Amino acid sequence: FNGSKGHIAHADAVASNDDRRIASSEQVPKKKKVVLLGTGWGGMSFLKSLNNPNYEVQVVSPRNFFVFTPLLPSVTCGKVEARSIVEPIRNIIRKKNVNISYSEAECVKIDPNNKKIYCRATIDSHSKGQEVFAVDYDYLIIAVGAQVNTFNTPGVMENCHFLKEIDDAQKIRKNVIDSFEKASLPNLSDEERKKILHFVVVGGGPTGVEFAAELHDFVNEDVVKLYPNVQDLVKITLLEATDHILNMFDKRITNFAEQKFGRDGIDVKLGSMVTGINENEISTKVRGNGEKTSTPYGMVLWSTGIGPRPLIKEFMKQIGQGNRRALATDEWLRVEGFGNIYALGDCATVNQRKVMEDISEIFRKADKDNSGTLTVKEFQEIIDDICERYPQVELYLKNKQVRNMVDLLKEAKGDAAKESMELNIEEFKSALSEVDSQMKNLPATAQVANQQGAYLAKCFNRMEECEKNPEGPPRFRGTGRHRFHPFRYRHLGQFAPLGGEQTAAQLPGDWVSIGHSEQWLWYSVYASKQVSWRTRALVVSDWIRRFIFGRDTSG
Ligand code: FAD
Ligand code: MG
Ligand code: MG
Ligand code: MG
Ligand code: MG
Repeated sequence: FNGSKGHIAHADAVASNDDRRIASSEQVPKKKKVVLLGTGWGGMSFLKSLNNPNYEVQVVSPRNFFVFTPLLPSVTCGKVEARSIVEPIRNIIRKKNVNISYSEAECVKIDPNNKKIYCRATIDSHSKGQEVFAVDYDYLIIAVGAQVNTFNTPGVMENCHFLKEIDDAQKIRKNVIDSFEKASLPNLSDEERKKILHFVVVGGGPTGVEFAAELHDFVNEDVVKLYPNVQDLVKITLLEATDHILNMFDKRITNFAEQKFGRDGIDVKLGSMVTGINENEISTKVRGNGEKTSTPYGMVLWSTGIGPRPLIKEFMKQIGQGNRRALATDEWLRVEGFGNIYALGDCATVNQRKVMEDISEIFRKADKDNSGTLTVKEFQEIIDDICERYPQVELYLKNKQVRNMVDLLKEAKGDAAKESMELNIEEFKSALSEVDSQMKNLPATAQVANQQGAYLAKCFNRMEECEKNPEGPPRFRGTGRHRFHPFRYRHLGQFAPLGGEQTAAQLPGDWVSIGHSEQWLWYSVYASKQVSWRTRALVVSDWIRRFIFGRDTSG
């Protein structure tokens, strides 16, 4: 409909010409080569769901394991062990009937014209330079995630901790415990002890909030017993540049979290921008009155958001996507302008079509009898296709509490509406004029990357069917059974653990609840989401051990 060719079928048309040539000379049809970059949420999910043996897959990633990121904050204070939340990628691929190989390397350049990528081995960092090698692909899947964003704040890279990878969580854990040991040494003034035990969290998003809560629990549950002399000197500060923490959650959750942190003695400073960090002090500026302060600290966790990796920045420049924050794809996750390159997860963003951009064409296709007006019956025949192609329509109807689209049209028509109502193009436009206001970028979450990986694998699994039916996505030309659906995100809800065995849950339909039973829901959801029985067993036994014996504070 937007001029998109039938999903993968388009790229296949190009690839299959080569194949026929090869097939006739060797009599063995060559398998199409899929190259996958990244072994995080997007990549893992693709690999787990792929089961079409007609592909040869090569995975390239500097990390030969998958990390269950939602439990990273739990690792920082020893609630869960680092080994419990990682799964070797070779465990995942060996179980497949598909031919999958893995190279421990990072992609350093993408050459879409020659269908090649360039990679550098990351195993031995001493012999850099020689190991750059090229890999050919028929299809490229980019799932390299994003990197931390310092917003060019001076001193952040040198002096802050981040929480992105498993090493980060282990470093934080060691640093937290070291801080308590250091502060317990003799011959220190109370001033010095206070400085060492001042933990600062920058960024009031889910990661920063969860870390602050973990740290507070650790102090209350374990430090009081193990380091009783210094417990009163501990201070946790949470700096947030906007007016509230947990912005992406419902107001009720934000309020509850701010109040709970207040009672817990976590110093939440709203509207507080970090302007710089040196070895001893963190400098902030209050938004509004511009008041500047510098405070001594012992440890800072920087978690203010993400930005594109150099590889993606470079690739976006190459293909004319310039100064974007993420690679733009269409709703089939194809990088704009390429039939054989896909991107998903944190490195990508889906460029949703606007209804109003396509409105004349929708009208023309719906108006089968070319009468220049739409009858209710004509309209009803294309409703499903519209809703599928433009997810914002359903959201709009839900938020407006309109039962269905026919009612929306009747509303636009006003008193004149009858069963025999007919709309002209202007009336049709005005009825749908506001639906696009419901469009939102998908969040950079594991939930999105996971669903996108599974979706893409399903597309590759069904490739043969789709070759037979290159029609592809609905373009208002009937509804073939084997067409590819555009990617559709299903939001399953969101948790914010707040410490003290309390969690806030926001489930679909804006169902909000906060408390201890939600913490149990959290335990069971995260146990069930583990990628293998091995990690599930490890995580659950870590939880039980912590309940009985407390956290392990050796480090
Ligand atoms: P990633 O999972 O980051 O994977 C990227 C992969 O690409 C990695 O394997 C990396 O090694 C590899 N790579 C990097 N550069 C290259 C290169 N040049 N070439 C090849 N490979 C490369 N989301 C939720 O939904 N719920 C949560 O509770 C939640 N909690 C989180 C807690 C923390 C502490 C963090 C950091 C994130 C959390 N997220 C959560 C977000 C979630 O982890 C990300 O949205 C998700 O990981 C994105 O998946 P991805 O596949 O795009 O990238
Ligand atoms: Mg990935
Ligand atoms: Mg990951
Ligand atoms: Mg994304
Ligand atoms: Mg008509």
